[in-house]
Amino acid sequence: MKILKFGGKSLTYGDGFEKSVEIILEKIRNDEKIAVVVSAIANATDELEQILEKAAKNEIYLEQLDTFKKYQQSNFSVDLSEEFRLLEKTFEGVALLGDYSKKIKDNVLAQGEVISAKMVTQALKDKGINANFSDTRLLIKTDGKFGDAQPLEQVSKKNVINHFKTNNGTTVNIVTGFIGSNINNDTTTLGRNGSNYTASLIANYLDAEELQNYTHVDGIYTANPDLVLDAKKIDQLSFNEANELANFGATILHAKTIIPLLEKNIPLRILNTFNHENQGTLITSAADTAGIKSLSVLENVSLVNLEGRGLLGKTGIDARIFKVMGDHDISVSIISQGSSERGIGIVVAADKASKAIIELEKEFENDFYSKDVNKISVTDNVSVISIIGQDLSTFHKPYTALIKNKIVPILFNNTVTGKNVSLVVHKSQLYKALNVIHGEIFGVSKKINIAIFGHGVVGGTLISQILTSAESIEKRKAIKLNIFAIANSKKVLLNKNGITSNWETEIQNNGISYTIEDIIAFANEHHLENLIAIDNTASSTFVENYIPLAESSFDLISSNKTANTLSYDFYKKIRKSLADNQKNYLYETNVGAGLPLIDTIKLLHHSGENITKIKGVFSGTLSYLFNHFSSEDRPFSEVLQEAINKGFTEPDPRDDLSGNDVGRKLLILARELDLQNEFDEVNIQNLIPDKLINGDKSDFLNRLTEMDAEYQAIKENQKPNHVLRYIGELSGDLQQQKGNLEVKLVSVPVDTALGQLKGSDSFFEIYTESYGDRPIVIQGAGAGSAVTARGVFGDILRLSEKG
Ligand code: ASP
Ligand code: MG
Repeated sequence: MKILKFGGKSLTYGDGFEKSVEIILEKIRNDEKIAVVVSAIANATDELEQILEKAAKNEIYLEQLDTFKKYQQSNFSVDLSEEFRLLEKTFEGVALLGDYSKKIKDNVLAQGEVISAKMVTQALKDKGINANFSDTRLLIKTDGKFGDAQPLEQVSKKNVINHFKTNNGTTVNIVTGFIGSNINNDTTTLGRNGSNYTASLIANYLDAEELQNYTHVDGIYTANPDLVLDAKKIDQLSFNEANELANFGATILHAKTIIPLLEKNIPLRILNTFNHENQGTLITSAADTAGIKSLSVLENVSLVNLEGRGLLGKTGIDARIFKVMGDHDISVSIISQGSSERGIGIVVAADKASKAIIELEKEFENDFYSKDVNKISVTDNVSVISIIGQDLSTFHKPYTALIKNKIVPILFNNTVTGKNVSLVVHKSQLYKALNVIHGEIFGVSKKINIAIFGHGVVGGTLISQILTSAESIEKRKAIKLNIFAIANSKKVLLNKNGITSNWETEIQNNGISYTIEDIIAFANEHHLENLIAIDNTASSTFVENYIPLAESSFDLISSNKTANTLSYDFYKKIRKSLADNQKNYLYETNVGAGLPLIDTIKLLHHSGENITKIKGVFSGTLSYLFNHFSSEDRPFSEVLQEAINKGFTEPDPRDDLSGNDVGRKLLILARELDLQNEFDEVNIQNLIPDKLINGDKSDFLNRLTEMDAEYQAIKENQKPNHVLRYIGELSGDLQQQKGNLEVKLVSVPVDTALGQLKGSDSFFEIYTESYGDRPIVIQGAGAGSAVTARGVFGDILRLSEKG
């Protein structure tokens, strides 16, 4: 025999009710032996409760009662006159008295299940099935605790077995959930959601082979799918695990429900009435599986805090607190107490918080006078997230992820036996916190939300690179890259779900003017997690936004060199702000574009390797110029003109020839080694002859040949088999505060690595103590928008994979 249980939503007319009946019919057609337990139809229980309240307050309830009756009575061949009369008379009485007892309330609410079982029975009879309305008020005997009655096992079991003995054969019993009666035959209920309990009791008494619980969801999820889009269905759970979930709010799995099943080893399957082909979640007595199961949430709770210096060393305080709570039916879901015993925090349902405070104040009145207790306070609007299956050995992962997202839990605690950790967070942060933890734990794609500033050549290329590879990165790395903002100096295009490939037209048409605060506010409003801001501008002022961004939980990436080459004070200030906010800042493309240079230097330096010298060709443009000029018999101006024509130079080539860009790159590397040099301490050999330094761009471009004689002479004055290279060199005692930074034109033997350089390659030699006179060499394309964008992309992935 299988027990089928249908919940209220599954029995809603016009959709669920018909589907539920169809499911029952299908089982009967397949000759399966079944019994059916039903909840009240749709929201009947809630509605009856509301009407009862209205009646007690002497408010107008007749209209609502009428609607209730009309809805419930969908099939007129069912006689509901007895139930309706009972309700009408009771409400009248309650209205007169202005009050009602728990006993009356149980009698009222019970009618929902009675009506439901009668309607389902009739629907089956209409299809020719021999269905039998089975009223559990006659079968399940309980104690007298109205509203939360406890079944008396022996008699109930005997009654149920007898009932099913006399109603077997072709009969299908349609059983009322939720209700029973006490020794005096007064109607009792088993507590809200109690139909599940009824179903598992019946399953237990009848030694059923399975309990199938038909709901409106596909099963148990890793988190509430309404709150976490990426939540996944759990296929199988052990009773133990289900029990843990139950303790944290999964109503289907209330501990009471599970125990009768556990006792008889009866599997429980959670199924979806609206998608019943789905296998649902199966809960069995199989062994627990390793790992974290699920996140559950208590949304509306308050944190009550009792503080007192005089509590130190005092005994019996906790007992008094819990007695107060117990006496007033306030259940405590989390307790937190410091070992100093100076205070205790308890989490209670939000609607119980005021009561808790009032009663605690009464209890501790004398302790207030003696100053042992100095404050009883409440933090409202908090929520509890419980990570079921989490132990402390890996708790740092979700915890770090939260901190990185600027969510600092108000308190957390773990259970000693079970593997669970609960966190209390501000309710306004619940949604984001839940998604951050879920993304971190279940490895379902971790979402990275990116704001890109500057969409010129590098920025534009980066955007298209991200859009093209987002899908494959999500598959391979479970990282979902979402560009939620693209901005230029005037306008921003915002879309929390990610911009698409026609962003260029969109920013023109829908872009809005903005300040950095607007973008930060947008990210907050939409609870965007794992934020990255990317500076692909050439702006020297955008860096002013770095600190506000870091303070608002953005990691930073920059292809712009400004932030690293302003004063050393500013350099320190940014790093302090980043450290204070636990944010990262990556800028691999500042030197050598996409080449993994900065990463390598950082790694060597942080591992304690003593870097003694760095030397290289830092500029692709000047690499091209001197590689070609040295190996070809052509005038300097001709090679320079060629570089200009190929677009290798800045619009005004003097920006390359001045050596300042090389100087900045060298400074950035020096600062990686903790050297405190300033830009004006870099000794730069300017390649522009004095007479051409001033004057406008076109004037300069017309006078390129005036450089030929000087460079021809330099070339010819070299030793044999030597070539010219424009290099940056960092030397000196690099253990000191400052190093020796030089940018200069040198002549080197052609048979060295540097002498062999071709095309527009960048080239870096890193000399260290362990590597001696054999430097680490990094060489390759060190300029161009595609490789620079790739380099920025690399930084995005480095950040995404962190923590
Ligand atoms: N109808 C009752 C309630 O809503 C029992 C149940 O649905 O399980 O609480
Ligand atoms: Mg680089």
